[in-house]
Amino acid sequence: MNNTKFIPVYEPEINQEDVRCVFEAVNSGWVSSIGEYINLFEKLFADYVGVNYALTVSNGTTALHLALVSLGIKEGDEVIVPDLTFVATANAVVHAGATPVFADIDEETWCIDPADIRKKITSRTKAIIPVHLYGHPADMDSILNIANEYGLFVIEDSAEAHGAEYKGKKVGSIGTCGVFSFYGNKIITTGEGGIITTNDQSLYERAKFLRDHAMSREKRYWHTDIGYNYRMTNLQAALGVSQLKRISNIIDRKRQIFSWYKELLSDIEGLKLNPEKEWAKNVYWMVSVLFDEINEETRDNIMVKLREKGIDTRPFFYPMSCMPMYGGKCVNRIAKYISERGINLPSGPNLKRDDVEYISGKIKDIVVESLK
Ligand SMILES: *Cc1c(COP(=O)(O)O)cnc(C)c1O
Repeated sequence: MNNTKFIPVYEPEINQEDVRCVFEAVNSGWVSSIGEYINLFEKLFADYVGVNYALTVSNGTTALHLALVSLGIKEGDEVIVPDLTFVATANAVVHAGATPVFADIDEETWCIDPADIRKKITSRTKAIIPVHLYGHPADMDSILNIANEYGLFVIEDSAEAHGAEYKGKKVGSIGTCGVFSFYGNKIITTGEGGIITTNDQSLYERAKFLRDHAMSREKRYWHTDIGYNYRMTNLQAALGVSQLKRISNIIDRKRQIFSWYKELLSDIEGLKLNPEKEWAKNVYWMVSVLFDEINEETRDNIMVKLREKGIDTRPFFYPMSCMPMYGGKCVNRIAKYISERGINLPSGPNLKRDDVEYISGKIKDIVVESLK
């Protein structure tokens, strides 16, 4: 094999200005969690999402956990989450002492199905965590209607959807609060990092207090609760500030990349690409294809063959309810169906049309061959 081509599924885009900002932060001596970049990043991100408050944290998982405990979610409570998501969504509920309850997803949006949320509500339900999966917003009006009817909190897991819009509103500004991740393969990155966005001042204050060991503001080293160290560093925030400056450009390029894939792949029969409902702006975190005609084994074979051609892909997430620690029974039909048939394609913002043509060509060859 003389094939040295390798197209990763995602690569962060780090430019010279990013490096300059991080250097400046290191050089300032403010290397921990106090510093100008922290305040600036929180302000700029709150403005970007369109909320009054943003609170930086160490990663997306701690953002979820801190949001839950700050809302008072605790042992005995139930929180409804979509069955198809990254495992952190469900784990954060367990870390808060509560029980995640898995709702099925909607076949069209791949996000939590509001009709199934209703079926899963009990007297213990306290919150819903819709996930804006792969960059497409969940059906927020229907979710908010249910939440209002039953008095539930809504935490938008926006870890994959920075800049995505629901009816013209940015995700993370619609529910009780939003949480974002800045992991290396997310739409913008701080290396590791996360943020909570909200208009609720008391939630913001409570989360800020718990983020920093719940230390009394009046009396140093006096603590009234058991808090956490979930802070982001000034170095991470410096990278975040620099990345946030070009987020619109990154999203434009991601939408362009999706449209190339769509143009080049849409004639394959039985293949679906990411949805975009008429009320949505999808940011296509991961360009995804779904093959109606195949099963999990064929899907996995297609991925192996793509890898032989230097094309790195990922399977869709597996449903939480299929995993041993969450019962292992796969209780949601649509989540299972979509999970088994989906592949995430290379989706980094630096992909060129040539790359997308190469990838699409290989997908065509391999799929035609596999379905014979
Ligand atoms: C990435 C991700 C998280 C967790 O974020 P980390 O920063 O990796 O902790 C949570 N939820 C979803 C849906 C994610 O994709």
